[in-house]
Amino acid sequence: MTPTTRRVLPLLLAPLALGLTAPAAMASPSSVPAAPPAAECSDEPRDLPTWKFIDYGEMRRELAHIERISHGRVDVEVAGKSNRGRSIFTATVGTGDKVLLVTSEIHGNEKTGTTALLRILKWLGTSGSPEAKRLRRTITFVAVPKINPDGAELDRRGNDISWAEIERDFPQLAGRPPAWNYLNGVQQGDDYRQRPGFDLNRDFNPNLDYVPRPEDVPGTSAEPGWFLNPETQTLRDVYKDLRARHGAVDAYVDLHHQGACVREDAQGRLLDVAVDYPPLPDVFFEPGGKYAQYRDTYAKDLSKQLAISAFRGMDARGFIPARYPHAPTRDIPGQVRCSLAMIGTGTVLFEVRGQTQTMGHELAERFTRAVTEGLLSMLNDLSTGAVFDIDPDTFETLPGTIEEDADDHTD
Ligand SMILES: [Zn+2]
Repeated sequence: MTPTTRRVLPLLLAPLALGLTAPAAMASPSSVPAAPPAAECSDEPRDLPTWKFIDYGEMRRELAHIERISHGRVDVEVAGKSNRGRSIFTATVGTGDKVLLVTSEIHGNEKTGTTALLRILKWLGTSGSPEAKRLRRTITFVAVPKINPDGAELDRRGNDISWAEIERDFPQLAGRPPAWNYLNGVQQGDDYRQRPGFDLNRDFNPNLDYVPRPEDVPGTSAEPGWFLNPETQTLRDVYKDLRARHGAVDAYVDLHHQGACVREDAQGRLLDVAVDYPPLPDVFFEPGGKYAQYRDTYAKDLSKQLAISAFRGMDARGFIPARYPHAPTRDIPGQVRCSLAMIGTGTVLFEVRGQTQTMGHELAERFTRAVTEGLLSMLNDLSTGAVFDIDPDTFETLPGTIEEDADDHTD
């Protein structure tokens, strides 16, 4: 196909699925795209086309289009700039006092979340249905699609910044070894030697006023991050601004992808999306523990309730959700979802099966719809308050995944 034809495709596809995104009024399970073929999956990177995923330029145009046709209901703003100067956008719809913040592509090769966010924004911003009106009245929905636009354009996990640039921005770190999450070799099949970067989902800190100190670098996965990168600084500022204006950010969802061959443990089926609450050991919140100061604010139960809501929403529409592997000792405070949960926001991880390098676009439509259903369920349950009636302890009874002990997580 010509480049012109290629670029138009994602935008043409979106309206087809829009009719499926109205909560409660949604189509029957028969509309779910075909289940994944059982035998065909591989974690080996393949040279698959990514053009069916929405790229940065298409996202900009679609956001502008949605803002225009929503007649002021969707507000698109530039929240900050990536290291390579790309604008990072927020799109806000709704005037309610329950705030749901969602980011996509903090890992730039994990792309279905961006399309799901654009579909929800379009539906919420333009629909005259009672459901959409109720959600706009009760919820403030804030989407940050492509929080890592430089990584997204390179179709890779990390952003695009060198340690020398970090030292320029933070002279107090000059001469320190690079932070532990700095990628400057060959990672996940991507060569970062010429264009190094960071795993941004290790750069967060529950202290939103934290300033990098030399003694905290290079750090470890069991310590908070440092807000070293423009992208994580932008997300921190978006969160602080929302909290200042609304008093609290009730919920945060981070949209990711995982391995290509993960199966649900109950029936051994290849799954669509796994969900999780933050990996932070309970013992560290006890008096004297390293997270003791967050004992009263840690939103563990709300995180589980929201994750269960997402699971139920996807399950009810015929998709295959599961619990994400989560050992009780797992401790990654530098993840955005962990830091924000410590300071009172219920947080949920979505892990769609397969990265772009392993799945390409083959199942993109199915996974995008699954993510959309999960998010809409959470919006709905936050709006009605039903999420607070969910028993958080039932999270552990949901089907898990067969890779329960895997330690090479990609979230
Ligand atoms: Zn990820």
